[in-house]
Amino acid sequence: MLVGNYLHSHFESPAAHEAFLAEHPEIMASTGKTKGQLKKPYQVADAMIDTLEGDPEVMALYQGQKELIVTGQIGGVDWMGKLDCFADNHKYFADLKTTQDIYKRMWVDDNRSWGSFIEAYRYPLQMAVYQELVRQNYGTRSAPLIVAVSKQDPPDHEIVSIPQDLLDYWLNKVIELQPRIEAVKNGEVEPKRCERCEYCRATKRVSKIVSLYDLVS
Ligand SMILES: [Zn+2]
Repeated sequence: MLVGNYLHSHFESPAAHEAFLAEHPEIMASTGKTKGQLKKPYQVADAMIDTLEGDPEVMALYQGQKELIVTGQIGGVDWMGKLDCFADNHKYFADLKTTQDIYKRMWVDDNRSWGSFIEAYRYPLQMAVYQELVRQNYGTRSAPLIVAVSKQDPPDHEIVSIPQDLLDYWLNKVIELQPRIEAVKNGEVEPKRCERCEYCRATKRVSKIVSLYDLVS
């Protein structure tokens, strides 16, 4: 999270990056041989920054308003988004995402199949919401572009589009599922345990014996 913020602040502005460094002295090693140097994850982040900045195609794309807050209502619920970079022509907005390996196959629970890290982390849902907030504020249907950069040595990077039908699917899904989520938040409906998340794992009591076939499905 903090490493992501480090990277984002760099691409926001020099002032934002300076402010981040001032607020987070803990990202520097304070003892040992590397005292005064960035800790390892931030050195990796620096390599990721160099990779993106070293590609003129990425730099040409990543021009526009940085860290732009967009707000609106979807299905009567208040939403807020932060666009990493909104192109001045409003044709697209870019979102920086870091990952171990851009091409790594990951399990996508929603599809019960293998897919990309973008699906596994439900980024299409986030991008669908952002696209809708942009539409409400600017009257344009801007394309979300994921600027993906990996933590490998050297880092890999790609600019990734999301099919519009997948964005439409997720926006509809948000509208469909939101009433229940709101009801749970307001304490009107009991939440259902998923038995997978941090909260459920921390409070788990086995209620039945499961078949080995249920472990991976
Ligand atoms: Zn849970």
